Amino acid sequence: MHALLVEDDDRMAQALTTALAQRGHTVRRAGRALDALRYVHAAEFVLLDLGLPDLDGLELLRRLRTVCDAPLIVVTARCEERDIVQGLRAGADDYVVKPFRMNELMARIDTVRRRTGAAAARDTDGGGRPVRTGDVEIDIAGRTVTVAGAEVRLTRREFDVLAFLAARPDEVHSREEILDRIWGDAFLAASRSLDVHVAGIRAKTGRAELVRTVRGFGYQLGTESHGGQR
Ligand code: CA
Repeated sequence: MHALLVEDDDRMAQALTTALAQRGHTVRRAGRALDALRYVHAAEFVLLDLGLPDLDGLELLRRLRTVCDAPLIVVTARCEERDIVQGLRAGADDYVVKPFRMNELMARIDTVRRRTGAAAARDTDGGGRPVRTGDVEIDIAGRTVTVAGAEVRLTRREFDVLAFLAARPDEVHSREEILDRIWGDAFLAASRSLDVHVAGIRAKTGRAELVRTVRGFGYQLGTESHGGQR
């Protein structure tokens, strides 16, 4: 696959390029945010360093996400939980802190690509009518969400989580099940990824009850009426 490697450090870029090439990927390197935005259209997946000379990496991540839906992994020295949460919220599929083990990063790339492919495959068979709850309408096939008739933009991963819950609104889904189905990795259960995405869904729709937390277990689509119209 064709990778876009956004990394300003030459030695790090060289090591990553070599490792990716050994696994059959072609690599385009961008040392600056400006180049990343120029090259991203051809990318099938993206590795993104946050410490860049010309633009804050999180800002670049947000801009990349407006033009590119390819799997994206942040690879950065920033290890504060706040940074990780912001990165996932801005649309990163995974977040790897430097220094990292090369084999682990390569495994994470495979996982992210696999689950992204699985999500795309699921999209093609969702031909049903939109799911309604309160004033929220979730069109799984069309990948759109409207609240009181106005479309709300979710990240791809946020939508995947919401669509998964909406596909079986009567069931409570465990964290492990959701992580396994959407992320392809139940072991992420200890991570904050899922909570961050659920928080994003609630904040962007302005419907905190849209996703119901079942404490110590998982989540369910909220089926209470959502008010909103007054
Ligand atoms: Ca850097």
